[in-house]
Amino acid sequence: MLEALFTSGIVNLVVTSRIWLLFLLLLPGYQSHAAATLGAQPPVITIDQETSILTPDQRLRYWIETDPINIEQLLAADLPWQNASHNTLNLHQEKRPVWVQLRLQSRTSDYRRLLHLDWSLLRQVEFYLFDRTDNRLLRYEYLQPGNASESGARLPFYIEMTLPHLHSVDVFLRVQASEYFLLPITVFSPTAYVEHKQNRYLGYGLFFGLLLAMLGYNLSLYIFIRDPNYAIYCLYVAAITAYSATMTGVGPAWIWGDWEWLTEHAYRIFSSLSFITAALFIRQFLNLREYGSWPLPLSTFAISSWAGLLLLSPILEQPLIGWLHTLTALISPIIAFIITLPLLLQRDAQARNLSIAWLPLLIATFYFMLHLVGLLDYSHDVMNLQRWGFAIEVLLLSIALAERINRERRDRVLAQEASLRYYRQASVARQGELAARESMLKAERDARAELEQRVAERTHELQTALTALANLNQELEAQSRTDGLTQLANRRYFDDCLLKEHNRALRQQTPLALLIGDLDHFKQLNDRYGHLAGDECLRQAASLWRQQARRAHEIAARYGGEELVMLLPGVTQQDALWLAECIRAGIEALRIEHEGEQIRFTCSIGVCVQIPSDNTTADSLIEAADDALYQAKENGRNRVCVGIPPR
Ligand code: GH3
Ligand code: MG
Ligand code: MG
Repeated sequence: MLEALFTSGIVNLVVTSRIWLLFLLLLPGYQSHAAATLGAQPPVITIDQETSILTPDQRLRYWIETDPINIEQLLAADLPWQNASHNTLNLHQEKRPVWVQLRLQSRTSDYRRLLHLDWSLLRQVEFYLFDRTDNRLLRYEYLQPGNASESGARLPFYIEMTLPHLHSVDVFLRVQASEYFLLPITVFSPTAYVEHKQNRYLGYGLFFGLLLAMLGYNLSLYIFIRDPNYAIYCLYVAAITAYSATMTGVGPAWIWGDWEWLTEHAYRIFSSLSFITAALFIRQFLNLREYGSWPLPLSTFAISSWAGLLLLSPILEQPLIGWLHTLTALISPIIAFIITLPLLLQRDAQARNLSIAWLPLLIATFYFMLHLVGLLDYSHDVMNLQRWGFAIEVLLLSIALAERINRERRDRVLAQEASLRYYRQASVARQGELAARESMLKAERDARAELEQRVAERTHELQTALTALANLNQELEAQSRTDGLTQLANRRYFDDCLLKEHNRALRQQTPLALLIGDLDHFKQLNDRYGHLAGDECLRQAASLWRQQARRAHEIAARYGGEELVMLLPGVTQQDALWLAECIRAGIEALRIEHEGEQIRFTCSIGVCVQIPSDNTTADSLIEAADDALYQAKENGRNRVCVGIPPR
């Protein structure tokens, strides 16, 4: 019943200090309720037509049964009855049977009345209606929670009675409590009872309807959203529903019936479960696991204390377990306050909403506690107040939960948007980076291509230059071995070739032929036609010589002045002579046009063919050919002569 004391905030501080005071007052030695005065006879409560609702207040007296006693013995004995010190009899943790006496008298006629004991934590009630006037027992009824009384009411404890006209009637109740002993008594007229019953049923219907609606609503939210906050909230609502069912008597009347064990323990089980689930809810709702630090182990301590108490409940005897229960219930709000305070100081929205939701229940329950321990006079309105507290709390908590889920969803959406923004920025940056890298690569590619092109150009230029150089060299080399006027090989090149071919012929022992020609009377030709015409004639003659040197290694050269030579490796004397004759005849047939005249000239040729030996030299071959030339000149020119090869 102290769930509300879990509520945190400044109110807690105030409440807590006062609760400790209450706890001291609750110690077993505290007996203020027993401030009794003995009365010989109880005061008579008269009932008339106008009395529709009546409370006996302090006009009842009670006696705590020390030894078992029946109604006859009770009536006979002179017992130490005590007067109630409050309008509602409150005997705290009293577990012994208590006898209560109430004297009623109807004024004008027989009256049917309904006696209501509005406290569901009673284990059993024995009802005796004793007619003092006739000295006889009018009625006896035995009631337990969950058993419908003869009046047909299912809620505890309605007893129907008829009061004979002007008779003095004693109501004796033998009552035993399973928890706190409270005995709020009301006497209803039949009409007032109907109205009262309707109001009571409507109130309970609305209250439990609200709890069950919230339970179903949040359970479906949990099933669809799977947020553990909803699951724990549902457990909490279920626990306080069970607790309220116990406290209102709805539980035994409609749910667990006459299950005695549960009726006996329902209060402690369900109030403990309410504390446990409330602590679990605070733990989950304030996200203590993420907050870390000391509030988390403190909440674990609170939860395990209640769990331990719940397990010990069937083992430990009264009143020890009752005091432990009260003590733990008093400590729990302090712990809840300590846990919530740092979050409240940090202006945590969750902690604020939680405190607001629990505040009305805290106030109502604290007020209820003051009545329960006897500091204030209990009435059913007080319990209604607590139920209002529950209803408001359950509604506000549900709203706080929805607000929290909504805020988390909003935060998630914002976070998603931010992440999307960052992603876009990153992607833009990445695109920029890619573009930069691409342009860099392109620049690199271009540079490389340009470089390659330049290298290719340079290489080409170099190759061209090299080719040109090689051509130039070739040309130079050709020039170096060519005679400028005749375009035949020059004397130096011829000498080299003669030496090589002589050596080769020597090695291979093959014939080597040499022709030496000299243009006849060329001095005269020059003199007659001019030097330039002579040059032309020399060129034409040289051309004929060149035409006859067809095969490889056959060389025609200008030996000097107007002397021409031809080297013919591997050529026999016969072939050499034939060749020489061809040349001679060719020159003889030449007609050089010059200033309307035809220039004709001839050539003498000496031929020598030899297979070289160790005794011969290249020079000796020339000498022999030269000798043959001389011979041809001597013999009249324009002819071919053969020289004797040297041996
Ligand atoms: P022979 O029949 O005895 O050989 O009489 P020849 O006049 O040809 O002999 P000679 O040795 O006395 O004269 C050679 C002449 O050849 C002299 C020179 O003017 C001429 N000659 C030599 N080289 C060239 C040349 O390059 N061009 C011209 N046009 N004449 C040349
Ligand atoms: Mg000559
Ligand atoms: Mg000559």
